[in-house]
Formats: sequence, structure tokens, C-alpha cells
Amino acid sequence: MRYISTRGQAPALNFEDVLLAGLATDGGLYVPENLPRFTQEEIASWAGLPYHELAFRVMRPFVTGSIPDADFKKILEETYGVFSHSAIAPLRQLNGNEWVLELFHGPTLAFKDFALQLLGRLLDYVLEKRGERVVIIGATSGDTGSAAIEGCKHCENVDIFILHPHNRVSEVQRRQMTTIFGENIHNIAIEGNFDDCQEMVKASFADQSFLKGTRLVAVNSINWARIMAQIVYYFHAALQLGGPARSVSFSVPTGNFGDIFAGYLARNMGLPINQLIVATNRNDILHRFMSGNQYVKETLHATLSPSMDIMVSSNFERLLFDMHGRNGAALAGLMDTFKQGGGFSVEQERWTETRKLFDSLAVDDAQTCETIAEVYAQTGELLDPHTAIGVKAARECRRSLDIPMVILGTAHPVKFPEAVEKAGVGKALELPPHLTDLFEREERCTVLANDLKAVQAFVSQHGNRGKPL
Ligand SMILES: *Cc1c(COP(=O)(O)O)cnc(C)c1O
Repeated sequence: MRYISTRGQAPALNFEDVLLAGLATDGGLYVPENLPRFTQEEIASWAGLPYHELAFRVMRPFVTGSIPDADFKKILEETYGVFSHSAIAPLRQLNGNEWVLELFHGPTLAFKDFALQLLGRLLDYVLEKRGERVVIIGATSGDTGSAAIEGCKHCENVDIFILHPHNRVSEVQRRQMTTIFGENIHNIAIEGNFDDCQEMVKASFADQSFLKGTRLVAVNSINWARIMAQIVYYFHAALQLGGPARSVSFSVPTGNFGDIFAGYLARNMGLPINQLIVATNRNDILHRFMSGNQYVKETLHATLSPSMDIMVSSNFERLLFDMHGRNGAALAGLMDTFKQGGGFSVEQERWTETRKLFDSLAVDDAQTCETIAEVYAQTGELLDPHTAIGVKAARECRRSLDIPMVILGTAHPVKFPEAVEKAGVGKALELPPHLTDLFEREERCTVLANDLKAVQAFVSQHGNRGKPL
């Protein structure tokens, strides 16, 4: 499988190189040159497979030529073996034909484990083969950091540095990062905000001289392997609800458009999906595009669903690329306009075509809490605020009651106690068994000034299993 850039100017890469690449050299994002397409018979034959075997069948075409089948199978078995629920991604019924796909049974209790557990193992496998080491530098406002650290903690060939804003992540989220020890794991608390952290990561990609030749790898959702891993659970859910003979709809709480883009790909690979609902919080750039054909940056709002607090949706470029007939030059122009500070609309026919599949809703904090309370009263299920936004959007935007509606349950409520408290459901939140002693564990973290040079000096001092690069 070959991968091409959305902006048409960077060289095509194979899977192995895409795994190790961040942005393409032309500033674009990598996508498969040709998407595999499965027949209905083929998809139907996968019913009842264990999750890791389904994962093998869905993802195999993407890694062909880079990872032999037997090795890939072994990696997948290990990856999904660390999940705490035997179904990996169980479906729980809320109402008639309305379901939550629980994606929070991985080590860090959010859906990001599905991709980052795999990414860590794939990186280590490829690096071992090449005899190379890499450094990962990532910024997090919460979920990504812990999932990336958990995914990389056993990697022999990866040193990981995760930057979070000092005193500005929740205690559960901080402890999920700082209580994992390893000579290759480095938590850095920056005396600044999340944007400061993210800027430092960007600047480090732009000028990598402080790394003395060691390669820098991206773990945010622009990494193709993350999207790829998320395609699998759309197939998994649909197969349990009568697919592919029957079509299914999904409502996806989204910020960077990574998770829902995976659903769009599943459909293009042959899975009958009737409707995809983009569910945002008050940071609603995606909703404004889907409802009014305007893609315009606005100010950032802090919400009760912080993992979706974004101004710009980094993966949306991948959908725009398809929307424009995969014309890289057109995309480069569009993204250039956007970078200059201008918003844009797409041609009416392109937008109308997109809207055949996508609907959207923006849900504010008050509605989020109302939904948590409502679902708890109706079913006894306690939702996290991100999932609640998905439920609200599903109920408002649903086109057909006859088609099963699956809401992606992106996090466990224990990660977001503030929203649950505000919803007033009065149910004590309990950490799952593997985390019950989280608040007693020792923490390891370095606090650094909001200063790029200081951070880069720290990385070059510790980037080779704790030793200088
Ligand atoms: C990251 C995250 C999201 C948003 O996912 P995208 O791929 O950026 O759309 C939603 N919910 C939770 C809990 C998350 O951690």
C-alpha cells in the first residue's frame, strides 16, 4: 500500500515510512492512495470473530508490503490483549435501537488506547527491524498523553516526552501519566497553557537540530496509523447489529475529526453506514461547516468536554481532499487561504454531496449535563461528557428510527468528574480495578519554564533511555 499527501507535492510513502512520518513535507497529511474495498460477503463472513482477528482482516491491506501477516497478527493479539473487557468494545443498549459502543476499556479509559496501544507496538517492531531509535514529543490536554505513554512504555526503541500544562490537567489525567515509570518515559509540566505546549511541539518538528539526528515521530491524530486502527470498531459494531445486511448509523463526539474520519473510511471500504453525525461542544468549527458551509476559526472556549476543545480540526483536511476529487493543488490553495486567516466555503455541490452522509450538532455544557442526567435517570448508565454530547446529537439528528444508532462512548466517566458532578446524578465514581490505587501512587514529573530552549535541552539530555542523545 502506498500513501500520498493531501497537498500533492510530497513523495508517496509505504506504510512503514508513513508510520514514522509526521506531516508530509508539503504540509499535507498522508492518506492511502487507493482505499481497499471489501465485498458484502467478505464482511459478512467476519461476524463473530474475536476483535483482534477482525482487526487483522480490516487493517491487513494497509500494512501489506511492510509487515508480514504472522507478525501483524501477533502484534494485534498483544495490543487488544491488554483491554480489560473481553469484548474489547462492548455495545450497550440505551434505548430502542440506540447503543453506546464502549471504547473505554483500555488501560487509560479512553478510545485513544485503541490506536496508541497499536502505534507503540508497530513503532517498536519497525524500529527494531531497522536498527533505529526515535524520540516522540507530544503535547496533551489530557487523554492523548496518558494513552501515548501507556502505548510506548514497553518500547525498546522509543523515548517519549509528554508536555502538559502545569496545574491545568485534571488530577486523574495527570496521575495516569506521571505514575508510569520507565527510563524512556518523561513527563514535563510546562508553566504555561496547552497552546504553549503545542507550539513547542510544532517548533521542535520545524527545527530538529537539538535531536542530533535522531528522528522525531508524531503521535497526535495526524498519524495515519491512529486513524487506521479506529476503522476497525465501526466494522465490529455494525457486525453485531446485523451488518452488513443491515445498515447502521453512528454519532461521534469529535474535535480533530480523527475518530469520525475513520467511520467515513469504513463506509468507503464497503460497510453500509447510513448516517455519520458530527457531535461537537461549543468549539464548533465542524458543526458550522456541516450546517452552513463555513470553515472559519474562532476563539477557543474551555468546556466540560476538554478533549474536544479545539479551534481547528487537524484531520478535516483529509475529508476536504476527497471532497475536492483528491486534487492536491486545490487543497494546497484552500489550506493556504485558511492559514492566512481567511475562512472558506466549498462549492455548493461538494457541500451538498458531503451532507448526504454527515449531519452535525454543537452541544453546550448545560445540554451536556442535562443529557448525562437524563440518560442516568432513564437507564442507570453514567456517561462521560464527551459521550453525552454524542447521545444528544444522535437524538437530535437521527434520520431513521429503524436504523440502529451507535454512539461512540469515547471515555469512562471517572476521567471527567467535574461534568458528572455538575449533572447532579449523585452516583459515586469508581476507578476500575487496575487503577484503584492511582491516588496513592508515586508520581514522576519535571516542571519546566515556558521556554522552548529549556525543553529542547531537557530532551537532548535525556533522549536516549534517560541518557544524552
Ligand atoms: C480525543 C477525544 C475525542 C476527540 O477525538 P477526535 O479524534 O479528535 O475527534 C473525543 N472524546 C474523548 C474522550 C477524547 O479523548
